[in-house]
Amino acid sequence: MSRRVSRVATISLHTSPLDQPGTGDAGGMNVYVVEVARRLAARGVEVDIFTRATSRALPPVVELAPGVLVRNVVAGPFEELDKGELPRQLCGFTSGVLRTEASYDPGHYDLLHTHYWLSGQAGQAAKQRWGVPLVHSMHTMAKVKNAALAAGERREPAERELGEDQVVRMSDRLVANTAKEARELVELYGADPARVATVSPGVDLSLFQPESPLIARSTGLLPHRTGPARRRLRLPRDAYVLLFVGRIQPLKAPDVLLHAAARMLRDDPALRDRLVVAIVGGPSGSGRERPEGLQRLAAELGIAGCVRFEPPAPQRVLADWYRAADVTVVPSHNESFGLVAIESQACGTPVVAAAVGGLCTAVRDGESGVLIPGHDPADYANVLRRLHAAPAAHLKLARGAVRHAQDFGWDATVDRLLAVYDGAVSALPAALRAAPPIPAEATA
Ligand code: UDP
Repeated sequence: MSRRVSRVATISLHTSPLDQPGTGDAGGMNVYVVEVARRLAARGVEVDIFTRATSRALPPVVELAPGVLVRNVVAGPFEELDKGELPRQLCGFTSGVLRTEASYDPGHYDLLHTHYWLSGQAGQAAKQRWGVPLVHSMHTMAKVKNAALAAGERREPAERELGEDQVVRMSDRLVANTAKEARELVELYGADPARVATVSPGVDLSLFQPESPLIARSTGLLPHRTGPARRRLRLPRDAYVLLFVGRIQPLKAPDVLLHAAARMLRDDPALRDRLVVAIVGGPSGSGRERPEGLQRLAAELGIAGCVRFEPPAPQRVLADWYRAADVTVVPSHNESFGLVAIESQACGTPVVAAAVGGLCTAVRDGESGVLIPGHDPADYANVLRRLHAAPAAHLKLARGAVRHAQDFGWDATVDRLLAVYDGAVSALPAALRAAPPIPAEATA
């Protein structure tokens, strides 16, 4: 247990830890919040997670795990509120958070950890009211996202960039997923380097494991092809399975995988009976990002028969997909980290990914997978073709992938976070003295 922190208020305004990741606004951040909260609680640190209620049917408080409560704060309409509309609900949401704390004895929470800029905005008021340190995780940053937009993708609004600037200024500690993100916080947002800590996210190493030792069997087939995961997912042993996992959105570029697969089939028509492209995940956003758009693209490319679309799945089922796949492809235009890449590697499946953002940390180029500069489908097709033709090289990457993933357990994440929390609490008196006073008109 932490020496100084026994109760943490976590804020995840725009997406609930109770949501199924892989669709809508739910993804890696939800997994992060849940996994960290469960492990903090197991070490004796109670966690309350504040989120916005998105349904009238939700009870105000749900126990997620012993020591972890999800508090569904009513602010604004329940369903169908676009993320872009959420800044208008900040006031109502923040009052809900403050009201909850006011129902306890003073000093109930020792620290606030906020996730994504909207939560950071709510956290600024709570920090000042409660006199506790604010630890903030950006997860994604507007300035970084705007610099690498996919074709046709909307720019993040100036309002978000400004909001992020404020959160950076107000936070006692900023948690970056990678050293690169830490540098971006300093260079793009002017963060004080002394307040930025790099803490890698993790993977549930007890769930994401290869199903059999990665030793080539006498069948001559790669071991993952003969295991039960393929049987459970009704995938033939001789199939060459390329996997995409995540929300269907231009940022994740699943279209690059479809184009690459079409090229592979054009160059090697014999592969047509064996190639399976599995896309696991649901729509995020609206309009052309929906899976129907991808289905149309698969039909236009003449590969519809090879593509399997699967709805968002719980991680237990995802683990089977990773184990059954030959390669997981992550062609994203940007990733703050890329949990999918680590989960796949933990299951012994190499990753072919775009050399962007956190993926450069999540994948060890040439050892646990292959990093590709840019998004040209021809480059992806070349690498995938090469791996398909060289089972020994594939097996070497598979073993390297399992090794690499061992560096990313959630327990290590929580060790580091607790050190960050302790540091923030110890520095608090000085931080409070340094904080700008709340103007009188704001408190009147
Ligand atoms: N995920 C899931 N079911 C799905 C698709 C995704 O549980 O059908 C989870 C996946 O296991 C991973 C997270 O969603 O932990 C996606 O995180 P990542 O960092 O790859 O992307 P993000 O959503 O943060 O952009």
